[in-house]
Amino acid sequence: MASVLIALGGNVGDVRATFRKAIAHVCGMAQAALVARSSDYSTPPWGDEDQAPFVNACVEIETGLDPHALLFVMQKVEQKFGRTREKDRRWGPRTLDLDMIAYDDVSLQKPDLTLPHPRLFERAFVLVPLAEIAPDRVISGIRVRDGLSRVSPQGIVRLPDTG
Ligand code: ADP
Ligand code: MG
Repeated sequence: MASVLIALGGNVGDVRATFRKAIAHVCGMAQAALVARSSDYSTPPWGDEDQAPFVNACVEIETGLDPHALLFVMQKVEQKFGRTREKDRRWGPRTLDLDMIAYDDVSLQKPDLTLPHPRLFERAFVLVPLAEIAPDRVISGIRVRDGLSRVSPQGIVRLPDTG
């Protein structure tokens, strides 16, 4: 079994409800156990700044799927929740974005899958939720909590639990 960290993001629709359903679908389709789930965070829009704030979260799962099979599952779940890549602006509004942050200690550089995720340490909106569930995990030689201390968490707000 592999330990996999996945980042979730979205800024269209009831994103927190989408996260709950998406996590259940990924775990079901990947025959995965949910090991940890961060809080949800409200985060400032990025890339294209002329759009609604995002909600971001991270989960850790344990799965027997290989990285590409898991990516396929994640893309199926993105599609199920209405993300249509074609009409999306690259970094524009989306109902659901699922990024594989790390898969055990695997390093991969394929056209469709880079592991660990190459932009992790630029993204406070991933590092804040990730540090909640995996502060001591070392990714690309950097401890998550140390990566977090190098970015500005400005504007990132933990949302209250919905129960
Ligand atoms: P971003 O996640 O940077 O906002 P996109 O979600 O639009 O960008 O990018 C999706 C593409 O990134 C997919 O086609 C997928 O094949 C590729 N990709 C490469 N590495 C990863 C990864 N670690 N996790 C998820 N998608 C990845
Ligand atoms: Mg993505």
